[in-house]
Order: sequence, then C-alpha cells, then structure tokens
Amino acid sequence: MSNLPSSANVRTAFITGATGQDGSYLADQLAGQGWSVHALVRTAPAKGTVVGDRAFSLHLGDLSDHNNLKRVLQTIQPDVVFNLAGSSSVAESWEDPAATISVNATSVAALMESTWKLQQDAGKEIRFVQASSAEIFGSSTDVPQNELSRICPVSPYGASKALAHHLVGVYRRRGMFVSSAILYNHESPRRPAKFVTRKITSQVARIALGHLETLDLGNLDATRDWGWAPDYVDSLVRMATYKDPDDFVIATGISHTVRDFVRRAFESAGISHWEKHVRVDPRFIRPIDASEMRGDASKAQRLLDWKPTVDFGEMVSQMVQNDLVVEAKRLETPHTSSRGGK
Ligand code: GDP
Repeated sequence: MSNLPSSANVRTAFITGATGQDGSYLADQLAGQGWSVHALVRTAPAKGTVVGDRAFSLHLGDLSDHNNLKRVLQTIQPDVVFNLAGSSSVAESWEDPAATISVNATSVAALMESTWKLQQDAGKEIRFVQASSAEIFGSSTDVPQNELSRICPVSPYGASKALAHHLVGVYRRRGMFVSSAILYNHESPRRPAKFVTRKITSQVARIALGHLETLDLGNLDATRDWGWAPDYVDSLVRMATYKDPDDFVIATGISHTVRDFVRRAFESAGISHWEKHVRVDPRFIRPIDASEMRGDASKAQRLLDWKPTVDFGEMVSQMVQNDLVVEAKRLETPHTSSRGGK
C-alpha cells in the first residue's frame, strides 16, 4: 500500500522524542520493518534504555535548538520525519504553560520549516507526521469527536497541540506531505507514572505487594478513550506510507472512567473492595478537565486499514501484570525512590 518513494527499499526515518513511550515503540517497529532509523535524543541514553540499540542512529540535540535540528536533518536526509517530541503531560502543562507552547508548537514550526527547506534543496519529497492529541477537542460537544469536530482546547497542553495542528494544515496547503495524527490516550508498560493509568497500575501493584495502603487520585469521573500504544504507533507508519497527507483521529471509540480503570486494575491484582484503598486528593484535580474524550476513528479504519488490536481489559491487565514484576524487583533493591505520579 506504500506510495513512499525510496531508493533500494530502505527508507530513512527521523524520530524526535524517541526515548518516550511512542518513540521507542516506533523505533522498534520501523527497525523491524527494515527502515534506517535516526533518533533525536537530548542526552546519550544509558546502556539498557529502550532506545540505544545498535539498530538506531542517535543524534544528540534539543528541539529548542532550531539550528542544530536543521543540521541534523541535513545530515540524515530522511524520507519521513516523525515528530513525537515535546511535553506530553496535560498536568505538567499547567505548571509551565510557556515552556509547553515553546516545545509543542514553536519547535514544530521550526522543524516543519527546516523540513520544507530541505525538501526544496534536496529535490525529493520528505514526509512529516505530527503527533497531535485528542486534547485539541477539550470542550467539544461532539461525542465521539472526529476530524471535523471543533478545535477548542481546555489546557495549555491542548492549546499548544492545537497550534501545531493548525501549522500542519498551513504547511499541507503550502504543498508539503504532512499528516496530523490526532491520538487519543494510549497506554502501555512504557507509559510514565505521571499519567493516570501507569500511576494506578504501579501503585496497585505496590498495594498488592503490601507496600502501600492507599492510592491518591484526582477526578475519578473523567472519561477517556484509552488504547494500546503500539497500535497507535502503527497508525503513524500507515500515515507516513499512505498516498495522501491528511488528519486522522486514532481512537478505540470506547470510553471508560478513571474509576473503571481503577476497579479493573485492582481486580487484575486480585484485590476486591478497591474503594477502601482509594482516596481523592484535591492536589490531583486540575483547574479545568475535559469530561469525556472519545474518538471516532472510522476515517483511519477506512483509509489506512487501521484498527485497535488490544481492548481495555487486556490493556489494564498487561500493565498491572508488568508492574507486579517491576515493583517486586524495585522493592527488593534498597534505597530506590518511590514512583510518584501527578
Ligand atoms: P491526559 O488525558 O492526557 O491528561 O492523561 P492523564 O493520564 O494525565 O489523565 C487522564 C485523566 O485522569 C484526566 O482527566 C485526569 O484529570 C484524570 N486523573 C484523575 N486522577 C489523576 C491523577 O492522580 N493523575 C493524573 N495524571 N490524572 C488523573
């Protein structure tokens, strides 16, 4: 199905944000499919981190250093740029809105402009896939939301992603192959604990192991459409190799409350009566929170032949089982700091 021009069938990808959950799965998938994978990393990763494998070429640099980004692009001469870097936490965006806008929007403008210039100089198409977010639809009254839903973010994070999403539209109209992946929440054992899912699964594991009494959370009624991260990363590759650039909602179409997630996680760890282990802590309640996010991915299903492969129950169970092992190991090692969560 690929229409991507490439010599000798080896395609070259440049991934920003390669040490994050999505970037690491993407690097794995592309390398497994024979791509030459180049990754932007802020610091040389320690041995044993997910990205650091011989199959990937690492380039040191920060998204905010636009001249360096330009040089890295010129060195790599990629066929596709996957822009996954940036600040990915809504909670953190309330702590530093300006930094969030700078990394999630200003840097996207710089990276797209450099890619466009390189494409002009090199005389070959360079595709660009931007990781956007459901948060651009924060207060949309459409449920489920689709590519045509009103863009109305309710957090600095959502606003930064909305600006980047609009820039994608601008460069597409200018003639560049640039797609926007409007990703709904997507989780895995590689999700950091600042996100509610991993916070829940790691702390439920600690409770199951007898090392924690209570799980402190914010809004239990928030309703999210949670999918399996490797599925979402696969959609990015499909977008990169599809014949046309476009906007695509990537979601399961099924939403659950945070409370549902908590209940399932305790069940997976073999604990009944979960209520006695959960406390609502106002510190974790946000100034404004989208109440229900649920996406309609029928366009991606139709055009990209994409669909989710792991359902909610299986996802929660895999994350809990993973954390039971991780936490048991961590508790065996003295002096390790406890895993936090926002
Ligand atoms: P987000 O949807 O990108 O903000 O992803 P998160 O995983 O950070 O949050 C998902 C939902 O869980 C949001 O509606 C939060 O308000 C809600 N939530 C409830 N308690 C917590 C908590 O303790 N930590 C976080 N991060 N979110 C929480």
